[in-house]
Amino acid sequence: MSVATYNFAAALARYAERTGHPFCRPAVVLFDMDGILYDSMPGHAQAWKKMCDTAGIDCTPEEFFAYEGRTGADTIDILIRRQFGRPATDAEKHDLYQVKSRNFKTMGLPPMMTGAPRAVAAAEALAPCVIVTGSGQLSILDRLDTDYPGAFPAERRVTAFDVTYGKPDPEPYLKGMAKVGARPEQSIAIDNAPLGVEAAVRSGAFTIGVTTGPLPDGALEGAGADIVVPSMDACADILAAFGRLGHDSEAGRLD
Ligand code: MG
Repeated sequence: MSVATYNFAAALARYAERTGHPFCRPAVVLFDMDGILYDSMPGHAQAWKKMCDTAGIDCTPEEFFAYEGRTGADTIDILIRRQFGRPATDAEKHDLYQVKSRNFKTMGLPPMMTGAPRAVAAAEALAPCVIVTGSGQLSILDRLDTDYPGAFPAERRVTAFDVTYGKPDPEPYLKGMAKVGARPEQSIAIDNAPLGVEAAVRSGAFTIGVTTGPLPDGALEGAGADIVVPSMDACADILAAFGRLGHDSEAGRLD
């Protein structure tokens, strides 16, 4: 499928309109992790559902795709308020998150996302790559060097341990840009969650939304993504098109 299918030229024009300046040559590509590099969201959703069943909280696995990007404590607060009509205590936030994390670990390591290695290779041809994740799940972070060798060295990672606010605040993506001294208009961000896309858009990065989970139609467009694609393979095509910017006379003819 050609990138023209996704109207790359129109996306660049919208980006220029919303930010007030055109996109420059990429100086960094910022990758979310869960649901982008790893097909880990179904496991997270099941781990949350199992924790809720244990704690007497009604929920559906699907709702956790909408919460993705929030901290665990925030998600637990939402669940407790809805079920019991009061805020979660600090002890509940801690203990219930421990239960959820244990549930996730027992499911084994999640598979790599189809197409993600191709997207990372296309990104590396453009600029340095940086991980920007709200996750602190060491079992996955420790696998990055093996699964994506050389792409995300330790000094180019923003994780749950590095941020104060977390997505949908732009802080994680801004910290990712700072890792390599890139300006927003030189930054491409890739995220699969509405809250992650919102964070990326607010940071000023050109934002690619990738629908890798069961989100309602239009969720990533609604969060402000500059372009939305249905897979990491399609994301790789968009990244390759960035590499051709400046070489073609007309951005609309990048296919
Ligand atoms: Mg994600």
